[in-house]
Amino acid sequence: DDARARELLVGLNPQQEEAVRHSGSPLLIVAGAGSGKTRVLSHRIAYLLAMGRAHHGEILAITFTNKAAAEMRERIEALVGDVAKRMWISTFHSSCVRILRREAASVGLNSNFSIYDSADTLRLVTLVAKGLDLDPKRFTPKSIQHKISALKNELIDEESYAGSANYSDPFEQAVAEVYKGYAQRMRQANAMDFDDLIAQTVYMFRAFPGVADYYRRRFRHVLVDEYQDTNHAQYALVREIVGITQDPADGAELIPNAELTVVGDSDQSIYAFRGADVRNIVEFENDYPNARTILLEQNYRSTQTILSAANAVISRNPDRPDKKLWTAEGDGEPIVGYVGENEHEEARFIAEEIDRLQDEDDLRPGDVAIFYRTNAQSRSIEEILMRVGLPYKVVGGTRFYERKEIKDALAYLRVLVNQDDVVNLRRILNEPKRGIGDRAEYAVAALAERERMSFMAGLRRADEAPGLATRSLNAVNGFVKLIDDLAEVADGSGASAALEAVLEQTGYLAQLRLSSDPQDESRVENLAELVAVVREYEQDNPDGTLGDFLEQVSLVADADQIPSAPEGSAAEVEQAVAEAKRLGVVTLMTLHTAKGLEFPVVFLTGMEQGIFPHQRSATDPKELAEERRLAYVGLTRARKRLYITRSEVRSMWGQSQYNPASQFVGEVPSELITWKREGASGPMWAGGGAIGGGNKFSGSYWGAGAGGDDSGRGLPTRSATVVGRVQPQKEVLSVAVGDKVNHTSFGNGTILAVEGAGDKTVAKVSFDVGEKRLLLRYAPLTKT
Ligand code: ATP
Ligand code: MG
Repeated sequence: DDARARELLVGLNPQQEEAVRHSGSPLLIVAGAGSGKTRVLSHRIAYLLAMGRAHHGEILAITFTNKAAAEMRERIEALVGDVAKRMWISTFHSSCVRILRREAASVGLNSNFSIYDSADTLRLVTLVAKGLDLDPKRFTPKSIQHKISALKNELIDEESYAGSANYSDPFEQAVAEVYKGYAQRMRQANAMDFDDLIAQTVYMFRAFPGVADYYRRRFRHVLVDEYQDTNHAQYALVREIVGITQDPADGAELIPNAELTVVGDSDQSIYAFRGADVRNIVEFENDYPNARTILLEQNYRSTQTILSAANAVISRNPDRPDKKLWTAEGDGEPIVGYVGENEHEEARFIAEEIDRLQDEDDLRPGDVAIFYRTNAQSRSIEEILMRVGLPYKVVGGTRFYERKEIKDALAYLRVLVNQDDVVNLRRILNEPKRGIGDRAEYAVAALAERERMSFMAGLRRADEAPGLATRSLNAVNGFVKLIDDLAEVADGSGASAALEAVLEQTGYLAQLRLSSDPQDESRVENLAELVAVVREYEQDNPDGTLGDFLEQVSLVADADQIPSAPEGSAAEVEQAVAEAKRLGVVTLMTLHTAKGLEFPVVFLTGMEQGIFPHQRSATDPKELAEERRLAYVGLTRARKRLYITRSEVRSMWGQSQYNPASQFVGEVPSELITWKREGASGPMWAGGGAIGGGNKFSGSYWGAGAGGDDSGRGLPTRSATVVGRVQPQKEVLSVAVGDKVNHTSFGNGTILAVEGAGDKTVAKVSFDVGEKRLLLRYAPLTKT
């Protein structure tokens, strides 16, 4: 078999070869993007088999996502054939499920336990919190769920949290109580949530040395990819499996039973918000004192131009060892920059460019990926791709009009236009939760059927429905009143006023804003995008009614026939990527989803300060460093051609926002970029580092700022009158430094600076809520 083993080393560079052949002590491979880390892991596994150093059942390979696991299995199968199918190559979660089911009986678990997803978990947290009489406005179930998950990732169980929580902090007290009840209910239900899968495996190994010993003997080789994204529980699991134990005599660590190989890049750590701890990689040499570390620096993926850009950006991060990627491939094409007047123009450029490359460069749409920071940004890009007929696929997210929050909002609007629309009516009947349960819904449905009237009419006569509890009846009456109030706004004030009234008065937006779940944050952004869509429609169609708008949306949403990827799981993402490749369609995805992938052509879009880096990172250097790593991930996905685009004006929350260029664009050496259009203020925004200037969200004229306690249930007329005033102005207001002004949502302020001229004039204004940068052409501003 020596010949087969030697063959596996062909084409590897010396460092890669060393990593593949290394034997004995724990091995850390740290290397930048595209340097062959995943390739080395696959070759190492094949080499171990070929050399007879391991039987295929003695290897445990762990990766971060199902997609990565499937890809690694594929690569190994290509090297060693069918045995790859029987090997343990999987994610942390699926390895743990396998171990837990296998060991259940011996540790007193039931092996047919159910696995609760995030929605199930939330339902249970809500139930437990309700049972404890906690005020859901003060302590949202989402925030409690989030905290419990974080605790589990830190291996803090309900007992130890009860002992260590700070009881003078009401939130911690609430969490401690819910955590206890939640854990108990989970046991009764014979269920585990995702975080449990890891934590319970660790606890089991610690409590049952015999079980732990079995796996330590069995897995003689443990290999972990994307180690930089492991959280504490996963870190502990790896240590348990490789069998780091302490000498009972003097506490010294004993040599692990298994050979451990971990692979990662601290510059690509982008999951801190899920508890990933980059220290796991930085401190590997401390954790495993006899470890061998191998660095890979040659990149096989990208051109030197792309690598130089990525190196320059990531080198701005503090506290990182300097490492520079290089390639033997040559410089390749320059990076192309483009500044659109607005997001539609930016999208149009992208579509034209893809078209041009198809003609001139023989490129297929499947070679192209378009990345953005937040899901909401896909809408303007999708629209133009649809219009020009370029097939595309949104990976790891749902198409804009199929997203839950967008469907919910549109369902309300459809009901306002047609109260007989029973499907949409029932969709929103208890969305957000308002105490109309299934039983009440069925009672009303039965009444409506018996009396041969519409469901809405049934709701209006709910007092006649037999067996309806008073509480449910009150909830139904409240809902009917809400719909009537909203319908009045829709009749009197048009589509955008109706939408904003819906989001505000139903409490839908307030509920999302109170949540600390990142997914809810993205839902808020999507709704902001929908407001922008409606306002744009009103501008283009001054006579258009709400009904006309809805009709147009139905047509747009219907026009795309390629099925979309459901939100969520890695397996689905993987399937979607494979399908996109097979169909030869353009791939759209967020930067987070792009990790580990590569494409010949990459567009990095929305490169604007406040978008990317995200607004959230304005005041937190740690968050900014994480955003910069995300930029590094994005830049290094490109193999041949890289585009960096942004727009000068972007509509957010129905207001046109002037966004300066992302600081990351400024961090790319200018000689690497060829600008096809530079924008009025040049490719880079001269105003400099204006992050925090245009705070799009917290200062919103909707009043319900992030984390604010405005429940969103204002007076029925409020949103209609307030939002009605925010319209683009025809004349650019002329102002000078020191002028006093009034803004419809920020109140009174003073002009601090004026930059640019004509339509592009930007004023920096000091308001009570903070400093804002406003594009005067659009800002609802008057002199006082
Ligand atoms: P990431 O950090 O993005 O996960 P990575 O370090 O895991 O990247 P790989 O995906 O393993 O990198 O490799 C990047 C590309 O370079 C792949 O297409 C791979 O096949 C190729 N590659 C790696 N090493 C070599 C080599 N020695 N010879 C030829 N191609 C290589
Ligand atoms: Mg990789």
